[in-house]
Amino acid sequence: MKKTTTRLADGRELVHYDSRDDAVRDTVDHRPLDATSTASEIRRDPLRGDWVAIASHRQGRTYHPPADECPLCPSRDGRLSEIPSDDYDVVVFENRFPSLIGPPGPQSAEDERGLFARRPAAGRCEVVCFTSDHDASFADLTPEQAALVLEVWTDRTAELSELPGVEQVFCFENRGREIGVTLSHSHGQIYAYPFVTPRTESTLRELAAHRDRTGGRNLFDDVLAAERADAARVVIDGDHWTAFVPHAAHWPYEVHLYPRRRVPDLTALDDAARAEFPHVYLEVLRRFDRVFGPDEPPTPYISAWHQAPVHHPDRRDFGLHLELFTVRRSKGKLKFLAGSESGMNVFVNDVPPETAAARLREVATPGFRLTAHR
Ligand SMILES: [Zn+2]
Repeated sequence: MKKTTTRLADGRELVHYDSRDDAVRDTVDHRPLDATSTASEIRRDPLRGDWVAIASHRQGRTYHPPADECPLCPSRDGRLSEIPSDDYDVVVFENRFPSLIGPPGPQSAEDERGLFARRPAAGRCEVVCFTSDHDASFADLTPEQAALVLEVWTDRTAELSELPGVEQVFCFENRGREIGVTLSHSHGQIYAYPFVTPRTESTLRELAAHRDRTGGRNLFDDVLAAERADAARVVIDGDHWTAFVPHAAHWPYEVHLYPRRRVPDLTALDDAARAEFPHVYLEVLRRFDRVFGPDEPPTPYISAWHQAPVHHPDRRDFGLHLELFTVRRSKGKLKFLAGSESGMNVFVNDVPPETAAARLREVATPGFRLTAHR
């Protein structure tokens, strides 16, 4: 892999990741761009205890442009996009409309009662373009392309973890209009947060409680072992990864991918796990697209890497994993986050996890075996 770091016209960083070591990426961005806005702040909710990013400048962001104005296609035929080159393998650049940006500012300002805490929304938001092909989704990538994306996620995690003030790196993909994706060109995002996210905080609490309750056992190891032993919800059990629908799935179709050897984050995966991941993940994505039948539109999904926080004392006990889920619950029907979910954080799931797992096994690619890379 070759990595080439450049700057866009407004100063944002753009990084090319090429599978060929002799790739040359020296094209200059000639667009007349103003510097990006840095007006974001985060505010702490005094009742919920979580941080909300307030980013008013995002209202003006690009919204469903026609394909011939796609900002994620390469710059070709006189049309200038976000990527100055006329082709690319994988490209990462700073989001033009970030909700988090810049180094940590002064300590949080508070009112005299300590209720209205606010801080600059430090951190970083990046866009990851998985392929220069406008019409290919992640599931259409070859294992080699998917392996390059995994390398990119890993490299970004390493680099962003080093930024001052960054506490957690989150790599994710939103797919489909139903999820609110405003650009159809296949891409993911990376958020580097200046705090540990609520989801990870609650998992860290469960991790500590399980350790205390069991005399030192690891929650991630025990969940993975229990799911494999039960097997009713296992979708794919490879040599280095297991994909399963969790015991208490929140979403109609939800799959978690765990490396068999627990590691805190992507940077710690070994070569064997790296080699098998593309095969398992691509197969799970392809099954997701078949779950609702042959003539259904592509399944909208969110794919989220859960990684250990950068500086947390328990980070070595955390288990890297990927959580993939769709908001579609049946043909033409979406699962909305309605009263119970949005008002009280209590999920109601209409598809039993065992049923979801059985369906995901049923729609396997004919002849699928984890042998191609062995
Ligand atoms: Zn495009």
